[in-house]
Amino acid sequence: MNKQVLGHDAINQRFASLMQQNKLPHAWLLHGLRGVGKAMLAQSLAASYLCESLTDTGHACGQCHGCHMLAADSHPDFMQMGILWDEKKKKFNRDISVGQVRDALSFLSLSGMQSQRRVLLLDDADAMNNQAANALLKGLEEPTSGSLLLIVCHDLTRLLATIRSRCMLEHCSPLNEVDMQQALTSMALHENIMPLAVELASGCPGHIAVFQDNDVAQACLQWHKQVADISRADIGAMNDFLAKNIQIIPHDLIVAIFMLSLQETLQELTTSYAKKEQIFKSAQALLAWPADVIRHSLRPVPALISRILDIRSALKD
Ligand SMILES: [Zn+2]
Repeated sequence: MNKQVLGHDAINQRFASLMQQNKLPHAWLLHGLRGVGKAMLAQSLAASYLCESLTDTGHACGQCHGCHMLAADSHPDFMQMGILWDEKKKKFNRDISVGQVRDALSFLSLSGMQSQRRVLLLDDADAMNNQAANALLKGLEEPTSGSLLLIVCHDLTRLLATIRSRCMLEHCSPLNEVDMQQALTSMALHENIMPLAVELASGCPGHIAVFQDNDVAQACLQWHKQVADISRADIGAMNDFLAKNIQIIPHDLIVAIFMLSLQETLQELTTSYAKKEQIFKSAQALLAWPADVIRHSLRPVPALISRILDIRSALKD
């Protein structure tokens, strides 16, 4: 079955209408915030393109041979690529290599096996290194007939202007309230996490998709309570909580939840410019914590606690 994509209706309609008119651009660039559903949208566009019996609205039927193969990850004319997992180092590669792009382009240049069509979904395109980006550019200049390239990127400024200019640009906006509600409903989250989920998501369901694991959701809720009043928070309890839960809660959520509380505190705070400056600096250090943990192989809990202590003393001074 084709996953339901929420929001982004205008893009879906444009794609369907251009396909009906046989005027489909061969390369689409979907950009927008992380977690907004770009890759899911790209998958649904790929499904429409490869479907053998489109619905009246131009969507994939979900029933034909093509749709079934795509849903089973076995469609010979579809390829998805992005940042690779390095099994030896137990972490994701830093970038997308030129070798990956060349392999993908050679896949795209073959004629379709199941249909006359081929689709390449290039996720995390902003992670391409220079050589990879130049290889992609070459592929964009010489498209094969029947090929469709769907590029997903979070930060448009990190792509070569020459790549951007050769693609149909589509901005994926955060979901409106109605679509967001529907996304939350379809995730079937525990009721007690809903208010926090809405606040953290800000229109990007991907930010809180991990809440579908209720252990993560409940741990986040506890963390939210721990940091509710930062200047009076019990650091010892915080330390114990983190020691137990640091592997469960994604690091960016630990920071995001903390920042929610800090923002509330700051709204009530009347203070000097110099002091605000100091709070701002220590908050910046906290925001950099997830990346610093990886980059400098820090022990996550002590590094986090020390940054929180800095913020707390900045608030108190
Ligand atoms: Zn179909």
